[in-house]
Amino acid sequence: MPSLLSEVARRADQYLEGLRERAVTPTPETVRGLDRLAGPIPDSGESADRVIAALDEFGSPATVASAGARYFGFVIGSGLPVAVAANWLAASWNQNAAMEVMSPVGARLEQVALDWTRDLLSLPAGVRGAFVTGDTLANFAALAAARHAVLENVGYDVSRSGMSGAPPITLVVGEEVHVSVLRALSLLGFGREKVVRVPVDEQGRMRSDRLPDITGPTIVCTQAGNVNTGAFDPVREISQRVHTAGAWVHVDGAFGLWARAAPRRRELADGVEEADSWALDCHKWLNVPYDSGIVFVRNGAALRSAMATGAAPYLPTGGGEMMEFTPEMSRRARGIDAWAALRYLGRSGVADLVERCCQHARSFADQLRDAGFRILNDVVLNQVLVSFGTDEVTRRVISELQREGTCWCGGTVWHGTTAMRISVSSWATSESDVDRSVQAIIRTVRRSVAK
Ligand SMILES: *Cc1c(COP(=O)(O)O)cnc(C)c1O
Repeated sequence: MPSLLSEVARRADQYLEGLRERAVTPTPETVRGLDRLAGPIPDSGESADRVIAALDEFGSPATVASAGARYFGFVIGSGLPVAVAANWLAASWNQNAAMEVMSPVGARLEQVALDWTRDLLSLPAGVRGAFVTGDTLANFAALAAARHAVLENVGYDVSRSGMSGAPPITLVVGEEVHVSVLRALSLLGFGREKVVRVPVDEQGRMRSDRLPDITGPTIVCTQAGNVNTGAFDPVREISQRVHTAGAWVHVDGAFGLWARAAPRRRELADGVEEADSWALDCHKWLNVPYDSGIVFVRNGAALRSAMATGAAPYLPTGGGEMMEFTPEMSRRARGIDAWAALRYLGRSGVADLVERCCQHARSFADQLRDAGFRILNDVVLNQVLVSFGTDEVTRRVISELQREGTCWCGGTVWHGTTAMRISVSSWATSESDVDRSVQAIIRTVRRSVAK
């Protein structure tokens, strides 16, 4: 075994080293090479060395270089080396993080990472947190807690009695709600379309003056960090308006909540501490390996009730175990990766990481504007939307750029205009990566326009 793991370490180092100069997208030939890893299940096995060698030979070249410094698609972090290393060690431990008796180290370090994160984001003391696979499941768990709490307030136990026959709940979202929130609502038995949509302003922020009148059980889903513009809903104003009527306020803060950790950006997310629940990703801006997210809930008892299992004599129900607060039972101790990232970075390192990405986004916007292109959003965070002229030209630039391979950016439509989205979320991106990517974008536009 030791020689196998050392061999993997050598191969991984080589892979990461190669990302500096490799094209960000794999070539069609390397993707076709995956056929070498497929086919029918072999009748007899093969040595571990050869399995790993095949994985590296055919798998590594077919990766997207999102672990590198010039991937700006979606909102995707790279694995910080220390978090990847911690992830490997924890994988060797192979701990089940469901209960403390299965893994004292898993239980302890996940709690430490949750406490540190709560502190960095200045969320209220006493909120309950838990690690889940990502922001979608964090939204799901938080909204399950919300559903439980607002129905409990009117004397109905939804965890026991279910949704059929439950008192109706009003669900309020902004026009710019992330689709993962709608998925969570649908999984919880609400239906994606049965929501009240509140109009937004030109940056996609929910307009608190357009909130409906609130009566009866109500959940209001706000957003901290719009996937296109990076804008924040006015959570303080919204909370003040709806809390008096007893509504639950949830914040989808996948990447945007990390702005709270950077002194110069904190103001953007002002007031999120007034909410009742928060969903957060660690695999985006904290740059831990996939997959990792956190749900925080002010009323921990509501989360526990929402996740309650029926009694089983061999399982705990006293509120002391992680599995009582997550949708999963068995689970890897993914909080260990986050613990390692946070201990390595410290308060100032997280602030620098967030601030650096925001400054790179600013630099992208300034350089592209100087080159004559139109920036469609206020660049307040790490997101930039740029148009290169007509929708047709912008679409062509995006696909040519993706083929060319210096960097990778995706597309979107913002207020009816096709745009290229640049999201700077990697610890590894330097100013020279930004300059090199801007040059590649400008070259690509010239070529696309000439066609
Ligand atoms: C990324 C994102 C999600 C979904 O998160 P996953 O980690 O992919 O589950 C939800 N909301 C927002 C605002 C996001 O940026």
